[in-house]
Amino acid sequence: MDEKMTLPKIALGKTGFTLSRLGIGGFHQVEISTDVVAQVVDAFLEAGGNYIETARSYGNGVSEEKLGRVLEGRRDKVVLSSKSNKRDGEGIRRELEASLTALRTDHIEFYFFHGVNTMAELDAITGPGGALDALLEAKDEGLISGLGFSSHRPPQLYLEALERLPLSVILIWDNYLEEQFMPEIQREVYPLAREKGVGITAMKPLADGFLYQAPELALRYALGSGSDVLICGTNAVEHVQQAVAAIAKGPLNAEERAAALRDAPELGRYVCRQCGGCSTDLMALFRLEGYVDRQMIDYLPHDPANYALRLRLAGWFDMADIARERFAAAGWDADALVAEAEGVACPYDIDVARKARLALGKLRQEEVNLL
Ligand code: SF4
Repeated sequence: MDEKMTLPKIALGKTGFTLSRLGIGGFHQVEISTDVVAQVVDAFLEAGGNYIETARSYGNGVSEEKLGRVLEGRRDKVVLSSKSNKRDGEGIRRELEASLTALRTDHIEFYFFHGVNTMAELDAITGPGGALDALLEAKDEGLISGLGFSSHRPPQLYLEALERLPLSVILIWDNYLEEQFMPEIQREVYPLAREKGVGITAMKPLADGFLYQAPELALRYALGSGSDVLICGTNAVEHVQQAVAAIAKGPLNAEERAAALRDAPELGRYVCRQCGGCSTDLMALFRLEGYVDRQMIDYLPHDPANYALRLRLAGWFDMADIARERFAAAGWDADALVAEAEGVACPYDIDVARKARLALGKLRQEEVNLL
């Protein structure tokens, strides 16, 4: 790696911690040997990286075990996070103790409520005997420095969590694909987190690998979208080096961001950029289509590997039911939407009428005649 490539650092909200703008995500440490995990961590530390995050559920503790072995003797070089899916006090305490043992440490900086996907889960966390009281107790005991929150559902849960939980940090997805159908992340969640002094760590800058065709573009785009730290899942030293090189170049400027949205190969002539060229209803329809399949299923030709990747990733968020509920509640006149779409000249060369018919078909679970 070029010796001059050093990761920039940033204050994480008002936590008092200063982190490298790139963090290592622990999920992909499950799929590689401990030796390779050590190489990945070595390369990351060498580049000035200092934030590593994992979760109890990643390989049922395997990621934590490997990282614990690799960090032994140099635990003080990193700010460390882990996460638990438990919502009750006893459960999260048990998992926190297991995380501490696996990570071979007596202290974890941030412990997350992981993948909180419903309001009922949030209620359980904050209710009697819930996980919140248990983590606050653990904080008083010095086992953790602060609390974190992550979800894989629409931004509303983050807004609620930021109001109801005494958080230090959130982990939320951020990339130029998801931004097109969840603009509330930057418009609402980031400002509220900032107002409350909560640090923002952003996952999935490559949209689970979907943005593999232009990783530097994707990383530099996400770097400029408002988070403090980008979390990259990496399972090879080359990936660390690639990410470090991109982050070291800094975020894209406004002109480059506009060009990225225009030219990004994955957005192509299908993903709606929400440019305002369609009515509010049509743009909302395309955002709901994003909830169904991330606008990945475009019925356009792709090479087999790319097509297989689309099929694998399209349903990752599992939000089709939410999309269909919102679609039903909207009560749109489908024929009127298609008629309007027929008159739109999209600056991104999207066939808007075709797209409207496809989006309606997905939301109504009907076959679309593409003849
Ligand atoms: S003109 Fe194209 S990019 Fe703009 S809102 Fe309509 S479909 Fe989306």
